[in-house]
Formats: sequence, structure tokens, C-alpha cells
Amino acid sequence: MEQNSAQDRSPRPPSLSTTDARRAIFERLSPVTGWERVAVRDALGRVLAEDVIAPCNVPAHDNSAMDGYAVRFADLGEDETTLAVVGTAFAGKPFTGIVGAGQAVRIMTGAPIPQGADTIVVQEMTRSEAGRVFVPPGQRSGQNLRLAGEDLAIGSVALPRGKRCGPAELGLIASLGIADVVVRRPLRVAFFSTGDELASIGRPLGPGEVYDSNRYTLFGALARLGCDILDMGVVQDEPAALEAAFREAARNADVILTSGGVSVGEADFIRELVNRLGEVAFWKIDIKPGRPMAFGRIGDAWLFGLPGNPVAVLVTFYQFVQEALLALSGVSPLPQPVMFEVTIAETIPKRPGRREFLRGHLSAAGGRNVVRLAGTQGSGVLRSMSEANCFIVLPEERGDVAAGDAVLVQLFDGLV
Ligand code: AMP
Ligand code: MG
Repeated sequence: MEQNSAQDRSPRPPSLSTTDARRAIFERLSPVTGWERVAVRDALGRVLAEDVIAPCNVPAHDNSAMDGYAVRFADLGEDETTLAVVGTAFAGKPFTGIVGAGQAVRIMTGAPIPQGADTIVVQEMTRSEAGRVFVPPGQRSGQNLRLAGEDLAIGSVALPRGKRCGPAELGLIASLGIADVVVRRPLRVAFFSTGDELASIGRPLGPGEVYDSNRYTLFGALARLGCDILDMGVVQDEPAALEAAFREAARNADVILTSGGVSVGEADFIRELVNRLGEVAFWKIDIKPGRPMAFGRIGDAWLFGLPGNPVAVLVTFYQFVQEALLALSGVSPLPQPVMFEVTIAETIPKRPGRREFLRGHLSAAGGRNVVRLAGTQGSGVLRSMSEANCFIVLPEERGDVAAGDAVLVQLFDGLV
């Protein structure tokens, strides 16, 4: 990372492509090392610090996948076979006898396969009458069995370290009879808004003021990621106040997020400050919205200096910061953002050069996916984020977009 380099004093720091900016971020990050042992429920949203090894087979024993009859395949003939029903096996109440030649046991889903039987005939295929069952031809040996260890074999890695636990993982851990797991400590993230024009909610706006919305947006995004949040409020555009805020944040957090103060006019001033307190890796990215976004380090904390515009905050958060926070939390492998092509219903002027993230609304009209712009696209218009369900991603080299063209979209579901 350059520290107080010549570039720092140049009037126009170079602008990085999205790809290079992501590389510059991810090549520097390594996960926090602290860990703790938590009960299964408390592991929701947390990242496993150790592999979870299966202490038993799941399922624990061979069992039936269907309601039907447990039979010996060797008994079944080319024509309908008649077998004597000698008992019933329930899940949790096995049949304890042995299925002999010419015999069958009625069996429920999940019940252990009785000794002697090797095949399940589905109930609907049979007729039964006076203690006998009639099995039609065409059965396959071993059909409708769930074998012990088929889901998870004893001694195997049931969940790898680096996995972030969701509902399925909690269930899977419980299915192994495990009561607690080792997870990484949560990430501590400090954030503050900068700007003399910002008013906190709960009081009337003065002339020229705007309510500070970014702290609420960031609170929502960070809380959902399970970070420990330190909300440091609004900091005035004033050197001493900003320096004190950066120092305090660096002492208390793994990551510092700021919003505002990085656009032309304010940029040099904060850039100098951060370069004095730490290091700036880059300052500008070729994207819209969100061009001015800083990444660097102060003390032991990573710094993301986000733009002030509310939409730009969310775009840069979801395109850069969220994955960085997951990487620092120990998530591995990182989820890859899914993008796919759909037809756009409108014309969008664009000059090649920057990657643009427009707010879109994807819908299935007459069975075909079509995306439209979600309202006014100004980077201050937060409503566009709320009305959108996807980003329309226009790569650097792309020029004007015509109605009917294919464009890339990134769904909010799973992302925001
Ligand atoms: P800046 O990056 O500080 O020049 O801010 C760019 C625009 O975003 C300006 O119109 C600011 O008023 C607005 N802005 C900055 N911070 C916030 C905030 N925390 N909440 C809402 N709007 C903001
Ligand atoms: Mg500002």
C-alpha cells in the first residue's frame, strides 16, 4: 500500500476498474482469528471456525423411504406374488422379528428395515386381504430404501469450516446430535456519517440540512450480516473532529465505514488525514454511482470510505464491502454474485468507460423475464433502491442500450 506517496499529492489519483478494486481489497484481507463455542441456535448467521465432523451416521440405520411392505426380493416372481404379512414396522417402533421366505412386514416411512427384508414395495402398488399382500411384478431389488450414512457418513466432514450457518446448517448440526459448535467471533464494525449538513432524526430540519439516512441504511446492512455494530453518529466536516473519530474507530473496531466527504472538494482533506493516520490503497473506482470510494487501513482497522449519496452507499456496500466483511468473518469460499441476462424494456444512454449499476425491476411478463428501470436513477434517490428488485449491470465497455437488448442483472434476493 502506498503511504504518503507522490501519488497522494497528485491532483487526480488514478481510478481503478471494479475488478482491480476488488482484487486490491481481497488480496489484503485475512479473517479474524478469535472464536467461541456457541449453542446450535446461536450459530445462526455465524461462521464455523472448525469442520463439523459427523459423530454418527445419518440416517443412523437403513430405513424405508415410503409407506409399503418390506419384502425379500428373492421371493418375488414374474407374476403377482402373494406374501404373508407377519407384522408392522413403525418409525421409532421397529419390527423385531425376522422376515422369512414368503413373508412381508407392513412398514411406515422412516421405520428401520426389518432383518431379512431388502426391498420396499410401495403401498399403492399392492392389494392386501386377510393377512396377505399381493405384489405385482416389475419391482427392483433394494428399491425405496434409505441406507445408513447415505446423508452423512460417520467420521466425514458434515460442514466445513468457513461455512456461514443458515437454517439448513442448524438442522444438519442437530441431526448429528451435536449441541454446540465453534464459530469465529463476530466482526466489530464502527461507522459514522460525515457532513455539516446532516441532521439526526427526531428534530426539525434547519435550512439546507438533510436527515442522515446513511447510518440507518448501514445499520440495516450490517445488522443482517451479524456484525457487532458501533454507531458513532454524525461527525462534522472538521479536521480535529474527524481525526478523533478515525482514531477512536480504529481502536475499537476491525472495520471502519464512513459515508460522505470523499467527493471533489472534500476528498483531498480526508485523504490527507487518512494518509497521515494510516494508508490509502485506492480512492476512486470506475463505477456509477459510487466513483469516490476509499479503501485503506488505519491502525489495525480496515477503512471503507463510502460516498455520501444514499444510493452510492448501497451500491458500493453491496459490490465491495459486504463480501469484504464476509471474508474478514472467515466465510470461505465467498459466495459468487450471480448475474444473468434478460431483455430490457427501455432505452438507456451510456458512454463506455465506467461500470454502471442501475436500479431495475425484473418481472415475468407473459412468461418472459423483462427488466425496467425502477424509477428515477439519481444517486440520491433512495426510493429507486426500495422499488427495485435487482441491479442492472452495464459493464465498462458497454455503450447505449436499446429497448429489446440483453442486459445483465444481479438479483437483490440473496444480495441485499
Ligand atoms: P458527500 O459525499 O459528502 O459530498 O455527499 C454527497 C451527497 O450525499 C450530498 O448531497 C450529501 O448531502 C448527501 N449525504 C451525505 N451524507 C449523507 C447521509 N449520511 N445521509 C443522507 N445524505 C447524505
Ligand atoms: Mg459531505
